[in-house]
Amino acid sequence: MHRIFILGPQGCGKGTQATILSEYLGIPHLSMGHLLREEASAGGELSEKIQSILNSGSLVPDVVVKEVLLKRLGLPDAKDGYILDGFPRNIEQFLAFEDCDQPTAVIVITIPRAVSIERLSKRAELENRTDDTPDVIARRLDIYEADTLPMIEEYRKRGIVRDVDGTGTIEAVASEIKRSFVL
Ligand code: AMP
Repeated sequence: MHRIFILGPQGCGKGTQATILSEYLGIPHLSMGHLLREEASAGGELSEKIQSILNSGSLVPDVVVKEVLLKRLGLPDAKDGYILDGFPRNIEQFLAFEDCDQPTAVIVITIPRAVSIERLSKRAELENRTDDTPDVIARRLDIYEADTLPMIEEYRKRGIVRDVDGTGTIEAVASEIKRSFVL
């Protein structure tokens, strides 16, 4: 059973790689950012709060994130494993997940900050995401470096981290990831 977390700075391709790996392994791809954007467009007071946090590039409060995630993990298709991108993003979320079934592997895709900024600026033109503006991109990268990178060390201590260089083509990165999950 695979419970795979995919992490990496914005623009590293974690969503794209999670989709490819999801097809390869036949388990669903869950994206924390996507789940939260869905929640933000559901309507109501909480949705409005979430939307304004997303627009600022800050992290949505941990309690909300955990609730949204557990609700999704409880659906039947996630019972036999899943690939999750974008969670946990800090030590508090890591600790909040300690009482849940732990990941079997954590894939960390790495790219230099300049590549992140270049890729996200391009995505802004294509996808019209409200959080892909230069200021917000910089804020999201700062949070990744300050909070997510130190948290990843906790998984490293458990020996489940697989580091992948994200600067190659989509296909090259995908085959490097797949190599470590030969069925
Ligand atoms: P992403 O699509 O992964 O870049 O996430 C987009 C935005 O969703 C982030 O900038 C955060 O505002 C929010 N988000 C995604 N994952 C999390 C998380 N684990 N905790 C808190 N906020 C999150």
